[in-house]
Amino acid sequence: MSKGVNRQVLLAEKPAGKLGPEHFKMSEAAMAEPGDGEALVRVRYISLDAANRAWMHGATYRAAVEPNTVMAGGGIAEVVTSKAPGLAPGDIVFGDTGWQDYAIVSAKSVSKLPKIDPMTHLLSVYGIAGLTAYFGLLDIGKPKPGETVVVSAAAGSVGSIVGQIAKIRGCRAIGIAGGKDKCNWLTSELGFDAAVDYKDGAVFKALRAAAPDGIDVYFDNVGGDILEACLSLMNNRGRIACCGAISQYDGVPSAHGPRGVPGLIVVKRLIMQGFIVMDFMARRDEALKDLQSWVAAGKLKVQEDVINGLENTPNALIGLLAGENRGKRMIKV
Ligand code: NDP
Repeated sequence: MSKGVNRQVLLAEKPAGKLGPEHFKMSEAAMAEPGDGEALVRVRYISLDAANRAWMHGATYRAAVEPNTVMAGGGIAEVVTSKAPGLAPGDIVFGDTGWQDYAIVSAKSVSKLPKIDPMTHLLSVYGIAGLTAYFGLLDIGKPKPGETVVVSAAAGSVGSIVGQIAKIRGCRAIGIAGGKDKCNWLTSELGFDAAVDYKDGAVFKALRAAAPDGIDVYFDNVGGDILEACLSLMNNRGRIACCGAISQYDGVPSAHGPRGVPGLIVVKRLIMQGFIVMDFMARRDEALKDLQSWVAAGKLKVQEDVINGLENTPNALIGLLAGENRGKRMIKV
């Protein structure tokens, strides 16, 4: 496999403000050979995640993405050649393949996946998005039947699953999303009880109307002003699962966080807890069993947004940050 070229998308420079196509460049490299313990894989689908943008700011739970390197990103790939015990040609794996046609991966950096149809579900409901929604809501949010669960970025990959699991667990589910179309989709197609359009202004007022009994669990994907509005509406002993802060990723992060946080947390005895889905990987099978049974029973609808072509990866991420996507956005390489 040493012949041929490998198309790659590089991060050309770190954006100082909003992410644009000029921050990426296409490149070609010679096809590499795997060393001992490694495999050459062909990337089939690349996951687009809001976190891709956060990695450009600096080190997070992973190292920062640096200019003139292949843009990092999770992907589903097929083993082409292998010098790693346990990985054979044709095996399907998930790992940080980066934005390229082929990648050299070490066996310990990837997880082997079952072959399922459609393969895209391995990136959406049975991938990071589904597991994040599952563990973040159930283990961190701990919703009880009858409680009110609010989720932001509700029409996105994680959020759309969070609201549906909340319904499955007998809760009242309220989504916050940008635009009327997304809000209608949440209530008419996904079974959310109510949806609030944050782009309409007055989030706090709309949320108070949608959650007249207050919020018991807030699944926070966005941080910023929406977190501030939710904090004010939390019920005593409410739980906030801090999953991400999309509103702070692109452009210059706002100088102030939500106001009134410490006082509200004390008086309302709130629990606010961050989490990283990787910490739950030992319990992945438990989640997959539930997610698969819900999908099979038609209780959990899977929404995917698949875009063709490696060269379209930069614009697909820029569009995700601007709210173009419904459900899990990915690139078919
Ligand atoms: P999504 O598929 O949810 O898409 C992102 C959505 O965010 C957009 O469609 C957009 O929808 C919304 N959005 C963008 N900017 C803003 C803003 N300023 N305010 C409010 N909403 C905004 O993305 P991901 O699934 O990749 O990510 C969801 C969240 O989950 C992120 O915060 C991510 O970092 C986090 N995450 C955390 C993990 C963990 O382990 N803790 C693992 C995986 C993801 P709209 O049209 O509604 O604005």
